[in-house]
Amino acid sequence: MKIKAASAWSAAQSEEFYGFKRWGANHFSVDSEGFVQVQPLADGRTVRLMDVVDEATSMGLKAPLVIRMQDTLRHRVTQLNEVFRKAIKDEGYKGDYRGVFPIKVNQLREVVDEVVSAGKDFNYGLEAGSKPELMIALAMHEGGQRLIICNGYKDKDYMRLALLGRKLGKKVIIVIEQLSEVDSIIEISKETGVKPMIGFRVKLQTRGEGKWAMSTGDNAKFGLNTAEILFAVEKLRAAKMQQCLRLVHFHIGSQVPNIITIKAAVTEAARFYCQLAKMGFPMGYLDVGGGLGIDYDGSRTNFESSMNYTVGEYARDVVFNIREICEASGVKVPDIVTESGRAVAAPHSMLVVEVFERINKHESLGKQHQPKSRHKIVDDLAVLLKNKARLGRLERFHDALQKKEEAFSLFNLGYLDLENRAAAEQIFWQICEQIDKESDKAGYQPEELHDLKKLLADQYVCNFSVFQSLLDSWALKQLFPITPLHRLKEKPTVNAVLVDITCDSDGKVDRFIDLQDVKDYMTLHPLKPGQPYYLGIYLTGAYQDIMGDLHNLFGRVNEVHVFLEDDEPNGYYIEEALAGSRVSEVIEGVQYQWEELCRKIKQQIDHATKKDLIKPREGVRLVEFYEAQMQAKTYLNIEQNGKRKR
Ligand SMILES: *Cc1c(COP(=O)(O)O)cnc(C)c1O
Repeated sequence: MKIKAASAWSAAQSEEFYGFKRWGANHFSVDSEGFVQVQPLADGRTVRLMDVVDEATSMGLKAPLVIRMQDTLRHRVTQLNEVFRKAIKDEGYKGDYRGVFPIKVNQLREVVDEVVSAGKDFNYGLEAGSKPELMIALAMHEGGQRLIICNGYKDKDYMRLALLGRKLGKKVIIVIEQLSEVDSIIEISKETGVKPMIGFRVKLQTRGEGKWAMSTGDNAKFGLNTAEILFAVEKLRAAKMQQCLRLVHFHIGSQVPNIITIKAAVTEAARFYCQLAKMGFPMGYLDVGGGLGIDYDGSRTNFESSMNYTVGEYARDVVFNIREICEASGVKVPDIVTESGRAVAAPHSMLVVEVFERINKHESLGKQHQPKSRHKIVDDLAVLLKNKARLGRLERFHDALQKKEEAFSLFNLGYLDLENRAAAEQIFWQICEQIDKESDKAGYQPEELHDLKKLLADQYVCNFSVFQSLLDSWALKQLFPITPLHRLKEKPTVNAVLVDITCDSDGKVDRFIDLQDVKDYMTLHPLKPGQPYYLGIYLTGAYQDIMGDLHNLFGRVNEVHVFLEDDEPNGYYIEEALAGSRVSEVIEGVQYQWEELCRKIKQQIDHATKKDLIKPREGVRLVEFYEAQMQAKTYLNIEQNGKRKR
């Protein structure tokens, strides 16, 4: 019997169920028709995401698809700057805010372009952590007031590039990460005759929480400890370059979940700043690095996928603590630099994946398997299934587990045939489902029975690669909010985990956001034959685009850049469409030439034709097919039988 559930559910219930309001920060909601809509500027203008997916599909850009909302990016840059302006005004702070965008978070030209353009009125600058990033920053940067902050390990050419920027009148600050860089910068300054602007990255003792807690302290990879700072100071003095020291920098790691950590780090760094200022260095900037979080799970806690503060609170705490320390030390307050990357970039893009298959343990075993002669073990299990009232849930579960193990042993020893093994497995899963249903009605769940839910969850197979598009989910166990993009007027009834199409058992998403801790499965809609089912994975604009790799040679995915446009019927237009990698492109990346492969295949087909293994006409067709596949995308080309409907 199928339970008809659709009627007792509403779009509003879905909105609550998937937590849109909590993690979506006013940007995401569900419309009355049950479709997810995005509000890039949080100003009431919305775009239905399925419209974008449909339009992209009609352009030949099927899922997996990255949707980049350029307006959201602009909105975040504006928001961050305005929040700091307000904090500075409210606190009566005498310095300015001079934020920079760390390019490593998302190097895509359209992203950097948008950030530079959005930051024009705020003198919002760029941060580079490597030579290639600096080369982007130098060329894309505009204006004499905006900063370029140079972090990361540097060779002499990196420093020469930074000084090239100085020659062009740009405020380029070289942040010293290790003592040897002081010698290099002195040397290059002499060589070029350009006076650099220098910052010191200090190794703070303040230890954070979250995944990047090891970015500070004695074993941190970057920064100068106290003794090294004093050495560096002497070196600059000896070279008569005191006037070059302008900035103190720290970075305590990304996604700092607890505001207490931020307060402590800012306080410690402000002390360093004041001491150096009192030693007679000109200074002028205090750079508090990145770390500003994103509330991926919407819980507003200090859990690692969340943050227990708002951007406003962050700005006020940074401004307030710097002012307090400077006042107490009698030092003029600095301009404040932040390098927030994740907080600026994460919300602007999302990934759309298509679920095309469901793997279900119990159904696929087939209820029809009635062995001709039933083995006793199957009878035992059947008794457990039938006499459910006799034993408690937990005891029944243990008994069933024991019988299942026994059945496998019997099979291995040759005492159980395939039919009986199938029957045993099938009855076992039926018992599990039965226990699980009873558990739903009971209050307290013993842990084993709770885990049963995960055990019983389906696997929804999605046409994408975790390693290409959601690397941090695998590498760092980072959580991202995930929801269906449509059908949200229907009650979700299927517990599932997501698996990708790589041949890697790690290629899956089986940890999901929850208000408490982490959920092992999510609840989705049953798949309907012939109808695509799309999921949105949100807040993926930071780091995921560039960290992804070519595992199994699944290449870059399709991508569209969306702008709000009141004159368009659906309220938006696609400004740019980037086609994902073709097979020929990814195999060239591993040193094959696709023409060469085509030639080799043609030779083999010709040979087979000569030997009459293939008919000449078919041979021609096969050569053409192979060649055409070279230009195909790397992901599955899902051919739906019947009409596509959503
Ligand atoms: C990565 C990095 C950032 C960006 O950090 P977020 O947490 O993404 O804001 C800022 N500064 C430095 C030095 C970094 O290495």
